[in-house]
Amino acid sequence: MKPQRYRYVIRISFFALLYLICFCKALLALDKRDWREQKSDHFIVYYADAKEDFVTQAALKAEEYYKSITEELGFTRYNFWLWDNRAKIYIYNDAEDYQVRTGKPSWSGGVAYYHEKVIETYPWAQGFFQSLLPHELGHIIFREFIGAESNAPVWLDEGVAMYQEKYRMKNIRTKLLEAIDQNKLIPLNKLSEMNIMFVKDKDVVDLYYTEAISVVDYLITHFGKDNFVRLCKALKERKTFDQAIEESYKVFKNLDELHKGWLRYIKE
Ligand SMILES: [Zn+2]
Repeated sequence: MKPQRYRYVIRISFFALLYLICFCKALLALDKRDWREQKSDHFIVYYADAKEDFVTQAALKAEEYYKSITEELGFTRYNFWLWDNRAKIYIYNDAEDYQVRTGKPSWSGGVAYYHEKVIETYPWAQGFFQSLLPHELGHIIFREFIGAESNAPVWLDEGVAMYQEKYRMKNIRTKLLEAIDQNKLIPLNKLSEMNIMFVKDKDVVDLYYTEAISVVDYLITHFGKDNFVRLCKALKERKTFDQAIEESYKVFKNLDELHKGWLRYIKE
């Protein structure tokens, strides 16, 4: 059964940062502390002792990403995150404060609840602005568009989120060519079946995300935004992934054909 809420958990690991989706019900349990707040057009940033500079920067950057991610995915907005509909970013004082108060594990750098448009996190020395923020907003914006009940595979969710972290595009092709050489590449139908939450092998996890971001790059960059928006709309209508692929990318009849096309693209 599909849960009503998705929770996105960020994992810190060998790869600098990795990200997971938990398909579990996440009841928001924000503590009752006296939060201070900074408001921008589409966001309210709550904080306690975090530096104000950081908070201001977080609101500014969130606004930039709100605009750029929506545009880049080709999504046209009809419901703007204004007034009561603003997204909320809770910034805990530090990692310990975040972990103790949210009960999140030590490897988690942040969590997003897309239904409530809430992100909980803490200031990081690195990675916050170029990783966490675009990644989490990518998830929320994508899921807001396709809906919770769509048949999108998890790797597509993760690929879209990772695609927002621009620096990750470096070396993607080299890594994939290596995987092909070593006969390790995971076919897309296998990728769709995998529950990455339970994968222990870090190389496999790394490859999973590398493939996900590469396929999204292929779908958006190579074919253009219009096709991608069509795919998302078909998913929103709860078509199967094969049907959605066929309808929006006429050159592929199903996931296997997408896999073959993507392979050619990597090898080009
Ligand atoms: Zn993620």
